[in-house]
Amino acid sequence: MKECNQCGKCCVNYSDGGLSVTADEVEYWEIFRPHISNFVSEGKIWIDPDTGKQLKRCPWLKQLPGEEKYICDIYFDRPDDCKHYPVTIEQMVKDECEMLEPRDLADPTQGQTDLDLLMIDCRPSVK
Ligand code: SF4
Ligand code: SF4
Repeated sequence: MKECNQCGKCCVNYSDGGLSVTADEVEYWEIFRPHISNFVSEGKIWIDPDTGKQLKRCPWLKQLPGEEKYICDIYFDRPDDCKHYPVTIEQMVKDECEMLEPRDLADPTQGQTDLDLLMIDCRPSVK
């Protein structure tokens, strides 16, 4: 299992209506991060504040100039859904996550253990 290389695929895959937020997260943004809560509507993210429509791509995803790498403009305030990713090996295969190595596919149980260890500060273990 490799470290995340910031390829941005997960953000692109999930930002078009694939992320959810809790009422607590929305309330925190409303009070302390109104520029983020502008993009929330009826508990859904990310909604264009001008048109009220679901955005195809997350407004906080930014490509580094001249590189195939992406950063999150609200990294420390991003949704828990984003903080918890990736959760399972199956999800990573489906998303073509670049953290995967051949040995993770050869032994997915060990791969999941390695992933949970890597994510220990971000989310509870899957097991
Ligand atoms: S909020 Fe940040 S981490 Fe989440 S999809 Fe957008 S750019 Fe990616
Ligand atoms: S798809 Fe995987 S490697 Fe790419 S940014 Fe997301 S977590 Fe990182």
